[in-house]
Amino acid sequence: VISMGQPEHSVVTTCAYCGVGCSFKAEMKGDKLVRMVPFKGGEANHGHSCVKGRFAFGYATHKDRIRVPMIRDSIDQPWKEVSWDEAIGFAANRLRAIQAEHGRESIGGITSSRCTNEEAYLVQKLIRTAFGNNNTDTCARVCHSPTGYGLKQTLGESAGTQTFDSVLKADCVLVIGANPTDAHPVFGSLLRRRLREGASLIVADPRHIDLLDTPHLTSAMHLPLRPGSNVAMVNALAHVIVTEGLEDLDFIRERCDNAAYQQWRAFIAEERNSPEQMEAVTGVNAELVRQAARAYANANNAAIYYGLGVTEHSQGSTTVMGIANLALATGNIGRDGVGVNPLRGQNNVQGSCDMGSFPHELPGYQHVADDVARGRFEQAWGVTIDHEPGLRIPNMFNAAISGQFRAMYVQGEDIAQSDPNTQHVEQALRSLDCLIVQDIFLNETAKFAHVLLPGSSFLEKNGTFTNAERRINRVRKVMPPVAGKEDWEVTQMLSNALGYAMNYQHPSEIMAEIASLTPSFAGVSYEKLEEFGSLQWPCNDENPQGSPIMHVESFPIGQARFAVTEFVATTERATRRFPLLLTTGRILSQYNVGAQTRRTENQVWHSEDVLEIHPHDAEERGVKDGDWLGISSRAGHTVLRARISERMQPGVVYTTFHHPHSGANVITTDNSDWATNCPEYKVTAVQVERVTQP
Ligand code: SF4
Repeated sequence: VISMGQPEHSVVTTCAYCGVGCSFKAEMKGDKLVRMVPFKGGEANHGHSCVKGRFAFGYATHKDRIRVPMIRDSIDQPWKEVSWDEAIGFAANRLRAIQAEHGRESIGGITSSRCTNEEAYLVQKLIRTAFGNNNTDTCARVCHSPTGYGLKQTLGESAGTQTFDSVLKADCVLVIGANPTDAHPVFGSLLRRRLREGASLIVADPRHIDLLDTPHLTSAMHLPLRPGSNVAMVNALAHVIVTEGLEDLDFIRERCDNAAYQQWRAFIAEERNSPEQMEAVTGVNAELVRQAARAYANANNAAIYYGLGVTEHSQGSTTVMGIANLALATGNIGRDGVGVNPLRGQNNVQGSCDMGSFPHELPGYQHVADDVARGRFEQAWGVTIDHEPGLRIPNMFNAAISGQFRAMYVQGEDIAQSDPNTQHVEQALRSLDCLIVQDIFLNETAKFAHVLLPGSSFLEKNGTFTNAERRINRVRKVMPPVAGKEDWEVTQMLSNALGYAMNYQHPSEIMAEIASLTPSFAGVSYEKLEEFGSLQWPCNDENPQGSPIMHVESFPIGQARFAVTEFVATTERATRRFPLLLTTGRILSQYNVGAQTRRTENQVWHSEDVLEIHPHDAEERGVKDGDWLGISSRAGHTVLRARISERMQPGVVYTTFHHPHSGANVITTDNSDWATNCPEYKVTAVQVERVTQP
């Protein structure tokens, strides 16, 4: 059901769902939002949209919105509604008391990829100034932190290399661990257009995704690899490129570090990395892998797009580096139609990472151990910043359980539902003396909170989001915040109550500060965003109108670095007790944990999470379509309805995680990426059996 009425005026703003970052005209009647119309001037979407951005905005005025701050002494007490001043005073007193008793490092916080750049910047600044430590992390920890690490190691910058439109120049597109038509629909449509025009498609994914069913495909290959074998697959592709003489040696000579290349080449050429040797690991026919490698390497322009099916693994960072190796080896970097392109999940996951949310990095990926960079922030902020990284989210949980970490400020993130091993997360949250949750709804995390601060939706604030192509888009206030304050104002109040003065009057002032301290944002301002519509960073003196394509002439590290990517099998393996491998993903009409899409009036959003299972595995267990299934892993147990589907390969099952009762994260394990601690959501060994009752 869409709000009706004739619009009187409109405001151009940015969708708050996925990392495509579509621009919309929010058409208003008085202060009521009548409809969202895709904006033709939006450079990420050119007037296109998907159902979520177009229709799923009703959550902003849903009755479940938190409208008043609330506090309570302990989590078994009822909430007490209070004024903003009382709530902020209560939170500040608790934080001060905890630090006095347990030390400066005993508190920390989490920024949100749902919030604006300015809000993420302010939360990490609050932590580094008023809290006095580096215990800041972001929900990107559980999705694209391996992208940040892997691309920085190899290409020197933690970001995708292309603009979305660049795909229209690609001759071959390799999609690894991503499902763009469901998860990034507007980009998915653009990609389909290019495939219909004749580009060849290679999909490396355990599941048969819709992209493979695009009508009039010229050439499509599906590499249905086993969950957990990405590195083996990427290495096998690279082995073929190296041993069959398909490298771009001129590019490698001119643009890459020679010693790193020689080391990588010797490693990758070893027979153990061949498609034939890796077939036992990947489960994919070796000849098919050889054909895919040739198609990628021989194309004039070959582009790689990848998603969480790459990053959310114990070797997530290794796969990201392996993907960069493929692009470097074939010279597919630095021009239209090529590149390495992470499809970011949330609307501002790129931005929250850019804004210094990680415990080891200040804004612009400047390491806290870098004396010059740190000194610049210390001078601007008037504090001393620790040169040692702070705690990551999983470390915060472990420290909470052991009693060293006592308080947490969580903005716009439902860690109790979205982080792995729910039992462990709940134990950590229950151990805290003070949990401050700032959100638009009473989410699962709020059950463990002592202070509840009403959040503001994207319609109620000014700011910017940065999409997956590094495009900084304006978010403009469409209606007043339901609780009277934008999120950045609340963070500022908390900082002031803790004694660190902040006095911003508008997010444009925060952006001005970001630009003054962050070289890649040096040329960004609200005035310039008004003038150009959007800007892709790096935007500075060298690139005053931004950079649609990165690494055109050089890499930030001078020469790109190949990385040796040894395959190490995850400890999560199928066994007699848990013989199937579970992997997860999203559907088009829902978004992540569903907090927003489930609160819109259209019934299409309310589909349930189901377990997709191959007919052979279903038959073995006497399972029929629609039966209830008990799913057990080493970590826990949940119940879902069966959907028998040949999209799956035998031995692999699949579900989504849009509903709190799906329990997907009750059964995922504690395994995580070796470099970044990104959880291994995509591989869980399970047993499945028919049950009579949910
Ligand atoms: Fe919003 Fe993504 Fe859909 Fe665009 S593709 S309308 S950004 S959810």
